[in-house]
Amino acid sequence: MAEGPEDQDAHDALRFELATRVEMHRRRFLALAAAGTGSIVLAACSNGGGSDGSKGTSSSGATDAATTSTRPPVVPPAQGLETDPFTLGVASGDPLPRSVILWTRLAPDPLNQLGLFGIGDRDVQVLWELASDAGFDHVVASGIEPAAAEFGHSIHVDVEGLDPDTWYHYRFRVGTYASATGRTRTTPKEGATVDRLRLAFVSCQNRRDGEWTAYDHLAEDDLDLVFHLGDYIYEYPGGTGDTKTPLDAEPQTLADYRTVYAGYKLDPKLQKAHQVAPWVVTWDDHEVQNNYAGDVPASALSRQAFERRRKAAYQAFWEHHPVRIAPPAADGSLTVYRSFSFGKLATFLVLDGRQHRTDQPCGDKPTTAAACPALDDPDHTMLGTVQEEWLAKGLAASDTTWTVLAQQTVMKALVIGDTILNVDQWDGYPAARQRLFEAIDRAGLENVMVLTGDIHAAGAADLRMPSAGVKGKIVAHELVGTSISSGGLGKLIGDLDLTSIGIPYSNFVDHGYTRCTVTPERWTAEFVIVDTIAEPTSAAHVDATVDVLAGTPGIKVR
Ligand code: FE
Ligand code: CA
Repeated sequence: MAEGPEDQDAHDALRFELATRVEMHRRRFLALAAAGTGSIVLAACSNGGGSDGSKGTSSSGATDAATTSTRPPVVPPAQGLETDPFTLGVASGDPLPRSVILWTRLAPDPLNQLGLFGIGDRDVQVLWELASDAGFDHVVASGIEPAAAEFGHSIHVDVEGLDPDTWYHYRFRVGTYASATGRTRTTPKEGATVDRLRLAFVSCQNRRDGEWTAYDHLAEDDLDLVFHLGDYIYEYPGGTGDTKTPLDAEPQTLADYRTVYAGYKLDPKLQKAHQVAPWVVTWDDHEVQNNYAGDVPASALSRQAFERRRKAAYQAFWEHHPVRIAPPAADGSLTVYRSFSFGKLATFLVLDGRQHRTDQPCGDKPTTAAACPALDDPDHTMLGTVQEEWLAKGLAASDTTWTVLAQQTVMKALVIGDTILNVDQWDGYPAARQRLFEAIDRAGLENVMVLTGDIHAAGAADLRMPSAGVKGKIVAHELVGTSISSGGLGKLIGDLDLTSIGIPYSNFVDHGYTRCTVTPERWTAEFVIVDTIAEPTSAAHVDATVDVLAGTPGIKVR
């Protein structure tokens, strides 16, 4: 194994081994302590970690850590890494009042799966640092974390013991290599008063369809949170001369999906967008295969082949996102749905409308109610029984001003004449949608926002009981974000005016993202669109602004 100056490496290795022994001791202790309290140890606890994961009111967790860990861990040696392993950038996500997940994946040769991505099949130790300042003069937590070969040399650090409602800076180091620096934050304490929250949500970034110019603008916004609502990758293979898609067939194996993610993660605009704020990521279909449903493939793949493929795709999803969820279970499943709050301003319920759903009814084609009796089947489910129950409980427990569902497919009825356009959406699962609406109604929630991706079009609509059509009681408000780059219906049919079916704002042509400013009085959504995705950079402007006033149901398009 060729390495750099050997004496220096040997010296580093010795120093590192000593430091590691101490660190391993400490981690074993923390793991035992955590096991004792029944909490889940996601990755290693940090040096800054309050080992009890307590949600106490003291803000001294990080400071305690700095004093208990008198000697900060040293940078592990590069161990044969000959080029920069931090090619895929950094990310953070799923913040809580006292912790946040930090992410990176080591891949010196990120598109070379036959060459094991330039890193081989051994684990590599990495130093992570979290500081209160951009210059890292005040490191408040740090630790050594293994980038495990088993998980594609990805790293998920759950940094604990942080101060609520606080911004931090983080980076990773190994040998002489340092990652880019990211900014992240914790959420306010449970029940804390919050004046304002700024968030953006995005979806659908087919890399072959254009440049992700929207991210240049998103990265300049002053955001607290970014939501990705699915189709972060697409499984479609590249064509001749396509340098953006490294595979020439659809991914099937874990190595294939790692390669696809790497191809996407290499984009500098996406990397920059991850660096500015914590992300909360869920998925839709293209993370595995277009329009798959639960364990049912959309194509002619055998169930067995699809099971293997889905398992590979799910693991790759876990490996590439800063998610506060356990790695895949033995059967390959991932529990993606989860919730968190932002003081007493908002409760977020992040949904998984893909893994647990039943197959789309009536061949997953446009249909009518008369032609598709299966639509009435109460056993048809978008979320699955367990998640439905979890969601109903989460809605009932929400005591914040806003309750937000961050999810995949359109909930508003998209029925033109008597044609149901897309049964992959909630329109294909009307009984499940009705159960959800009833759960919102039972919870007595007034200010429910549904954030949606998938359809490569923007829109805003009131969601009315019982059938999400034009009549009935408003139970929620849906904001649909257009795609970052994925081609839309508008290319085929031009823009649509859907006012008559209760959708006062829509845009089927443009690409961009949705930026929201949330206060105790008002939710304002700005639908930002870019002029072009055909060039590396583009101007952007606000296409429409929509308000919802707390306590007054109904969206208002300015
Ligand atoms: Fe999409
Ligand atoms: Ca989709």
